Amino acid sequence: MAPTNTPAPLEGKKRRIGVMTSGGDSPGMNGAVRAVVRMAIHNKCEAYAIYEGYDGLVKGGDMIKQMEWEDVRGFCSEGGTLIGTARCMEFMQRPGRLQAAKNLVVKGIDALVICGGDGSLTGADKFRSEWQGLLKELVDTKELTDTDIEPFQHLNIVGLVGSIDNDLSMTDATIGCYSSLARICEAVDSVDTTATSHQRAFVIEVMGRHCGWLALMTGVATGADFIFIPEEPPKENWEEEMCQIVKKHRALGKRKTIVIVCEGAHDQNLKKITPTAVKDLLSKKAGLDTRITTLGHVQRGGTPSAYDRMLSTLQGVEAVKAVMEATPETPSPVICIVENKIVRRSLLEAVAQTKEVATAIEAKDFDRAMELRDAEFAEYYKAYQITTAADQPELMLPEKDRMRIGIIHVGAPAGGMNAATRAAVAYCLARGHTPIALHNGFPGLIRHHSDEPLGAVREIKWLDAEGWASKGGSEIGTNRGLPSENLEVVSKVFDKYNIQGLFVVGGFEAFTAVSELRKGRDHYSSFKIPMVVLPATISNNVPGTEYSIGSDTCLNALIQYCDACRQSASASRRRVFVIETQGGESGYIATIAGLSIGALAVYTPEDGINIKMLDKDIDHLREVFLKDKGQGRAGKIILVNEKASKVYSVQIIADMIAEAGKGKFESRHGVPGHFQQGTTPSPMDRVRAVRFGVKSLQHLESFAGKSKDEIDEDPLSTVVIGIKGAKVLFSPMDTVEKKETDWKLRRPKNEFWMDLKDTVDVLSGRPKVTKSH
Ligand code: ATP
Repeated sequence: MAPTNTPAPLEGKKRRIGVMTSGGDSPGMNGAVRAVVRMAIHNKCEAYAIYEGYDGLVKGGDMIKQMEWEDVRGFCSEGGTLIGTARCMEFMQRPGRLQAAKNLVVKGIDALVICGGDGSLTGADKFRSEWQGLLKELVDTKELTDTDIEPFQHLNIVGLVGSIDNDLSMTDATIGCYSSLARICEAVDSVDTTATSHQRAFVIEVMGRHCGWLALMTGVATGADFIFIPEEPPKENWEEEMCQIVKKHRALGKRKTIVIVCEGAHDQNLKKITPTAVKDLLSKKAGLDTRITTLGHVQRGGTPSAYDRMLSTLQGVEAVKAVMEATPETPSPVICIVENKIVRRSLLEAVAQTKEVATAIEAKDFDRAMELRDAEFAEYYKAYQITTAADQPELMLPEKDRMRIGIIHVGAPAGGMNAATRAAVAYCLARGHTPIALHNGFPGLIRHHSDEPLGAVREIKWLDAEGWASKGGSEIGTNRGLPSENLEVVSKVFDKYNIQGLFVVGGFEAFTAVSELRKGRDHYSSFKIPMVVLPATISNNVPGTEYSIGSDTCLNALIQYCDACRQSASASRRRVFVIETQGGESGYIATIAGLSIGALAVYTPEDGINIKMLDKDIDHLREVFLKDKGQGRAGKIILVNEKASKVYSVQIIADMIAEAGKGKFESRHGVPGHFQQGTTPSPMDRVRAVRFGVKSLQHLESFAGKSKDEIDEDPLSTVVIGIKGAKVLFSPMDTVEKKETDWKLRRPKNEFWMDLKDTVDVLSGRPKVTKSH
């Protein structure tokens, strides 16, 4: 038994940290405020909320209030910003900032965490650069004395990017952008069904004055027919091109047309492209019954998605660490995320680079504008183009480089499997490859000769896959069975259909299957073909990646379930829900969901459950309910992974809590079960499925023309694609199998998220507990 390492408070000067939200609100801002407040208190600092953005900073007084631990209870799940936001003209002028500086000194605040868009962060940077001058002026005008300002020579500012537009350079995502994308995709999915019924066209306008991220991602996630974004305006003859693409899709049998127009869309000469202009074209030139849908402020609202709750929480935690570690020389940071890694970047540079995008667009230097967005943006754009546009003769490979690619799903269904398959099919067709579905996993192939009426091996046509972008489940059928059930038959089927590359989508079984095929190469030469595993499982337990498609959909389903449970307790206020999560031997889902909802405790198989742990947590619950004055608004949640303990089931834990809490609080257990697989896949799973699907196919086709022996000798001929830290990588199976896989427990040896469990504990104020193993 070892004690958990709930992080001890950081060393450093004890600070008074102000936190504010500014500019347009975005879902997730509350999670950031909660994390800053609690992390500050955990580190023996004081936390102050500055209400209504810079307005509160300029006005001072009651607009700047000290925050206690309980004041931010329940914040994670709330949309918008509970401490208010505003656009403040006074702060744009020096006298306003002078007043703001005085208010900070009077309140004794020496560090400021600001969550807002590029405008807010520009203001923050200006404030910091003027700080000493402002203090001097306050002394010169006798508003403050030298003694007053002496402890405040350096103001630390940390930026958190809260914006639905995802418009700040140097970060892959801003707090709120994925929630907004979810809202948009929900709307497009709804419009989709009616469009299909009536064979209509819809032009949908989405937000983004200078940034086309929302429009681009909507296009990728929904398989829209055409998109307009400011960074990459359409070609000179776009009217013609758009109508041609749309007509081509219709000729292939598509019954609906969706065009996404970004608010800031324009042509190559910066002439605005309006939804009305697009609608007129589609009606008159393409002869389609066309409607316009403008989503407006719906896009800003609602509860934050799981990702935004997690991102804002982790960034809030990092912001406090940045404050604690800052020296007078440290430049102001902005907290960013690159793929899966939280990083600090220079606030000054991020703001400058963001402004440069707008300047590049104004100068019609669109290549530069694309370059200045993160690399991911350009990749998504290319993936969108290649998987959507019809007729791209320039992309066709010469006959000799075209391959027959087998696509197979293995394991339980996970959100995004179909989106990945659709992307792979579209990519194959654009390049001249033949996409072949291997239906119902390996058992499907093994049964192939006997009882599959249609045959398990079928070419996929464009129209078959076109509608799969947003579909949950597995359209080509999935199965847990492994090729080792009958390697010989699998090999015969590969030979018979001349499968020259294999794209495997699935979880730990998919990984195991490819491992078996790789080892089977010694006996069966038909397996000497390139193979890629795209991890897709809600458990996110595939070695070689920190992210599996489907896991985000699962987290969203789970937080929805938890939010509903918690709300059901709002009348009694004193109820503890003990909820069982899936995840097999990996506590990932439980931990990240715990981070996203602010769970009181998370029990994982990695740590196990023991009586001392339960005892301490019950004591903690007593304390929490004693202090709760209604801020929690609802019940408390404990998440328990299905394999955390062989003894303590959720029912037993709930009964123990109820027994201990008699008269003070009650307890219920819940098992969401397969609900966690979600219904419609989340936009994040869908867009990543497309991006990774395209990348996987590019990898497979790089082996075209190579001999079987050359392929066999190349470790990169069997790979798993995944995110590791700040990178997207292909890792050779051989290495991952030997070095990174815990075969017994079916999970990676090093689970990147283990430290995050400590963060859940710190933010819920959980006392140090003792692990079982
Ligand atoms: P969104 O992305 O939603 O537009 P934002 O933070 O960019 O959010 P803005 O309205 O541009 O929103 O800025 C919010 C506030 O930040 C402004 O009302 C103002 O108080 C302050 N601010 C913006 N730019 C500056 C600046 N150049 N100097 C000082 N303060 C500024």
